[in-house]
Amino acid sequence: LSPEDYVRRSFERIERVEGRVRAFITLRKEEEVLNDVKASLRGKGKLSGVLIAIKDNISTNGIRTTCASKMLEDYVPPYDATVIRRLKEEGAVILGKTNMDEFAMGSTTETSYFGPTRNPWDLTRTPGGSSGGSASAIAAGFVEIALGSDTGGSIRTPASFTSIFGLKPSYGTVSRYGLVAYANSLEQIGPMARNGEDLALLFSIIAGPDDRDATTIDYAPQGGAINIPVKGVRVGILTDLLEASDKAVSSTITGFVDKMVSEGAIAEETKLGLVDYVLPTYYIIAMSEASSNLARYDGVRYGYNSLVEGNWREVYSKNRGEGFGREVKRRILLGSFILSAGYYEQFYIKALKVRRLIRNSVEKLFSKYDILVSPTTPVLPPRIGEVIDDPIKMYAMDVGTVTANLAGVPALSMPAGFYNGLPVGVQLMGRYLSDNFLMGVAIFME
Ligand code: GLN
Repeated sequence: LSPEDYVRRSFERIERVEGRVRAFITLRKEEEVLNDVKASLRGKGKLSGVLIAIKDNISTNGIRTTCASKMLEDYVPPYDATVIRRLKEEGAVILGKTNMDEFAMGSTTETSYFGPTRNPWDLTRTPGGSSGGSASAIAAGFVEIALGSDTGGSIRTPASFTSIFGLKPSYGTVSRYGLVAYANSLEQIGPMARNGEDLALLFSIIAGPDDRDATTIDYAPQGGAINIPVKGVRVGILTDLLEASDKAVSSTITGFVDKMVSEGAIAEETKLGLVDYVLPTYYIIAMSEASSNLARYDGVRYGYNSLVEGNWREVYSKNRGEGFGREVKRRILLGSFILSAGYYEQFYIKALKVRRLIRNSVEKLFSKYDILVSPTTPVLPPRIGEVIDDPIKMYAMDVGTVTANLAGVPALSMPAGFYNGLPVGVQLMGRYLSDNFLMGVAIFME
């Protein structure tokens, strides 16, 4: 395939279906992309000439980075995130920046200021979120690989809803330098791909210590596809998460587990435990960190400025009132409330304590099992508009994913099958730093 044909093929697909899918917020010009691909092919990177789609909360030098918010509609970063620098060093070429929930707050890509992304498998449905643009860009055939970010499921949920692979890496393995912060203690940038090999390759390129992010650890995974047979692997089936799921989902996951068993895995039913506590704990911590992180967008130092005249209170209120969407405001208000004097101990400190309990109980499970299996989400992809006006219903979709973020352990979603033509994803959760092992098993089970 010539560089011309390769780039043309991608843009042809985009011309045909992007109008309906709307995976991108910013798409680069074909000519620019082609020039970059040709230049990159002169080098010998692991991704020389390969197109990649990037979630729009990751800083890209010279390319608009909006976080799907009116607040940053015109923001063009003067620097690359560390992950972008590493991708470019290996020759990857950015095709465009993908749609997402505003500031990554949501599970369906519907809170975007730019409107929702649609699921290529069924255009009446959401691709999941918040990295729904990246997932749809892969599922629609625009690219083979993409980056997302996962604070409480934002890589895995859209991976599950679009039948692709997505990894939420172990906390500290991937630099967050250049990722617009939502909830620092929970989130990681991670790879998304059509197959397990590409997932592992992409992870090996973006992972590794970084002086610019003090939470990265001194760990560099070795690259390359590794195929790990599941024979003898101890699998814990999380029945409490299965029971919390729709029949369509749980029956597909059970089928996947049966396949693991027929390949020699030693599967046993167990429970995650504390299932009623994971969502309140996650949302209290996420909203607290969000309210603090988003304080910087006042339209003076950063972001949308409505050019109103008045005192500082009037200026800030107008800029923030007009620049942020409903869900973001909801979280700033709740987060500020939780962190305020008198409620801090009651909610925030309590949530940190329960987080510790959740971590401990996950750690204990990994003394018995190598992998914990569950549905990635408890439901099939909802229709556009179905959950967006019901925040509690939307938050409930994260019951299977947030635990890995609270505990800092790796978790991936891979295709488990289809139900009535709709993708169902299975989540494999592993012990801290077992990312490569998880991906090896995913490659084997593919
Ligand atoms: N749905 C979750 C939230 O809204 C997770 C989002 C994410 O991982 N960025 O917080």
